[in-house]
Amino acid sequence: PLTDNDTAATYKVLVLGDATVGKTALLRCLNGQNFIGKTRPTVAVDFIRKKFEVDGALIQLNIWDTAGQERFMSMTRQSYRNVKCVINTSCDYESVPIVMIGNKLDLSESRTVTISEAKKFTKKEMVFDFFETSAKSSENVYTAFHKLAYHVTEIC
Ligand code: GDP
Ligand code: MG
Repeated sequence: PLTDNDTAATYKVLVLGDATVGKTALLRCLNGQNFIGKTRPTVAVDFIRKKFEVDGALIQLNIWDTAGQERFMSMTRQSYRNVKCVINTSCDYESVPIVMIGNKLDLSESRTVTISEAKKFTKKEMVFDFFETSAKSSENVYTAFHKLAYHVTEIC
C-alpha cells in the first residue's frame, strides 16, 4: 500500500461558489475537522493538502478555499491569476476538469435546485461530474473530491 510519505504529483484546485453554500465547511469535512453550525465568512484564502489514490498512484490536491463575497472579489481574482499560470504550464485551459457540488443535502426539504436542472447545467457547461453532498453528515464529500482527483489524472 502507498504511504503518506510517497511523493505525489500535485495539482492546484479551487473551490468556487457563492457565499454561504458551504465551501469552507466542505474543506473542513474533507480535512477531518468538525462541522461548525455557524461559521464566519472566509476572509483569508487558505488551502488544504489532500492525497488520493487513483489507479494505484498517489496524487495530491492542494485545494484552495475562496471567498465568494463580492467584497472579497479582488482576493478571488488573485487566486484565479495564480491558477492561470498553473494551467498554462501543465494543462490545456479548455479541459480543466470541473466537478460540480450541490451541498447541504441534509437540508433536502429546502432543496433549491432540482437534480434535472443540475444535470442540464452539467451538460451545458461541460462539467465532468455532479455530486450532492453534505458537509454536515460528510455524505459524498470524499467521493466528490476523489472523483475530481481521478479526472485530474485523466486530463492533466
Ligand atoms: P462558504 O461561504 O461557502 O464558505 O460557506 P460556509 O462553509 O461558511 O457555510 C455557510 C453556512 O452553511 C454555515 O452556517 C455552515 O454551517 C452551513 N453549512 C455548510 N455546509 C452545510 C451542510 O452541508 N449542511 C448544512 N445543514 N449546513 C451547512
Ligand atoms: Mg468560506
